[in-house]
Amino acid sequence: MASFETQLFINNEYVDAKSGEFLTLYNPTDDTLVSDKIHSAGEADIDAAVAAAKAAFKGPWGKMGPTSRAKILFKFADLVRQKAEDLGKLESLAMGSAVSTQTLGSHACADLLTYYAGWADKLLGETSYPGEDGKYKISQREPIGVCSGIGAWNASYLLFGWKVAPALAAGNTFIYKPSEKSPLGLLALGPLIKEAGFPPGVINIVNGAGKTGALLASHMEIRQIGFTGSTATGRRIQEAAAKSNLKRVSLELGGKSPSIIFDDADLETAVTKSAQGVLVNTGQVCAMASRIFVQEGIADQFIGALKGALEGASASGAIGDPMNKNTMVGPVADKAQFDRVMSYIESGKKDGQLVTGGTRKGDKGNFIEPTIFKNTPSDAKIVREEVFGPVATVQTFKTEEEAIEMANDTIFGLSACVFTKNISRALRVTRQIEAGTVAVNDFFFPTVDTGFGGFKQSGYGREGGPEGINDYLQFKTIHIK
Ligand code: NAD
Repeated sequence: MASFETQLFINNEYVDAKSGEFLTLYNPTDDTLVSDKIHSAGEADIDAAVAAAKAAFKGPWGKMGPTSRAKILFKFADLVRQKAEDLGKLESLAMGSAVSTQTLGSHACADLLTYYAGWADKLLGETSYPGEDGKYKISQREPIGVCSGIGAWNASYLLFGWKVAPALAAGNTFIYKPSEKSPLGLLALGPLIKEAGFPPGVINIVNGAGKTGALLASHMEIRQIGFTGSTATGRRIQEAAAKSNLKRVSLELGGKSPSIIFDDADLETAVTKSAQGVLVNTGQVCAMASRIFVQEGIADQFIGALKGALEGASASGAIGDPMNKNTMVGPVADKAQFDRVMSYIESGKKDGQLVTGGTRKGDKGNFIEPTIFKNTPSDAKIVREEVFGPVATVQTFKTEEEAIEMANDTIFGLSACVFTKNISRALRVTRQIEAGTVAVNDFFFPTVDTGFGGFKQSGYGREGGPEGINDYLQFKTIHIK
C-alpha cells in the first residue's frame, strides 16, 4: 500500500494529473514500495501549467514591481529554510542521499532565493546622452515570459533554486519538472509557495519522466528551458527546442572532472578532499573529481592513504540508512543506477586494478562500497565515461604539462581540482584547465554568489552568481528622437 500520493502543483492548487498516469517509487535503502501514486503530467497537464504561467505573467506577477517580487521571494526563502530538514527527509526517502546532505541542499535553495531576491530591484538598464543624432538610447532588461526547468535527481533543491530564483527575480513565471527518481521533495513546496504570497500560476511543479520533459522542451509557448541532466538528454532538449519555437536553452550537463595532485601538495588535505569527492552524495555529484591524477613520486603513498580513508569511512558506519542524521553516505538512487554503477565497476576490474571496494555493500538496497581503481589506461571506459557513483580512478603523471594534457583529455569540462602549495603553479594550471570551475586545494562546492556551468560537452549557460540571471532576461534597446 503506497503511503504517498503526490499530485501536480498548478495555479497554486494540487490537482490530479489529467493523463491518468502515475510513477512508481521504491525506497533505495530496502527496495520497499514508497508510492505508486505519483501523478505524472501528460500533454493536457503541461498545457494547463503553461496557461496558468502565461496568465500570471500577463496578470498580477507581470504587473508587480520588482520590490514587491523581492519581498515574496525573501519570504519563500525563509519558509524553505524553516522546513529545510523535513524537505531533506523527503528527498532522502526518494533517492537515498543522506538527510544531512539533502538538508544542506534545501538551505542552498533558500540561500539562492535570498540571493536572487536581492537582484530583483537592481536590474537597471542604461541610458546614453544624446549625440549628433539627437537620440536618447535606452537599453533595458526585460523578463522573457513563461520559462521552464528540468532537473536531475541528485540535488533537487539546489537545481530548482538555481533556475527558479533568478527566473522569478527577473519577472518570469515558471514550470518545473523534477526527476522521476526524486519526485517527492519539490512537490511538497506547494503550501510554502502559497504562504509566501506568489499569485497563482507563478510557480508550477509537475512530475513525470522523460516523456513529460519532452513536452516542455517542445512546447510552443514556453520561451526558455533550463536543463540539468546528462549530456545525451541535453542534446535531445536542444533538438526539441530547435524543432519547436527556438526557445532559449541553457544546459548543465555531465562531467568527468579531473583532480591533479602535485608532489608538493599537502598530502593529508589532498587525501581528505579526494575521499570526500567519492563519498559525498554517494559520488552522485556532477562535479565529482572522478579522475584523479597524482604525481609519480607520491603515488603509492597517496593511493595507500586514500584506500585507508575510504575503508575507514565504510567500517565506521558512515555508510548506511540515509535517514540517520550521522550517516554520510546512502545507497545510490535506484536499481537502474545501481546496475549502471556496478557495470562500470566490472569494466574497471577488466581494464585496471582494483584498489578498494568493487562490491555491493550489504544484501539489500542499492549500497555500493566506495571504489578506487589504479593502472587504468586513458582509453578505458571507466576513465572516459561518467559513472555517477562512488567510483574514481587514479592515474600517475610525471610533469605539469603531462598532467594538464591528461586532465583535458575528455569531452567534458565541468570542474577540476588542483592540489599544490606553489601559487604560481596553481595559477598556471587553473588557466590551462578546460573547465567552468577550478578549485585549488579543495573539493568543489558551488556557492550562491558565483556562476557554475560547463565548458565543452558539459553544457553552456551559468547558474548562480550575477551571470545566473542573464539566462532569464532579454535585452531591449529603445531609441528616442
Ligand atoms: P537524465 O538526463 O537521465 O535526466 C535528467 C532529467 O531529464 C530528468 O528529469 C528526466 O526525466 C528528464 N528527461 C529525460 N529524457 C528527456 C527528454 N527526452 N526530454 C526532456 N527531458 C528528459 O539525467 P539523470 O540521470 O537524471 O542525472 C544525472 C546527470 O545529470 C549526470 O550526467 C550529471 O552529471 C548531471 N548533472 C549535472 C549537473 C550540472 O550542474 N552540470 C548537476 C547535477 C547533475
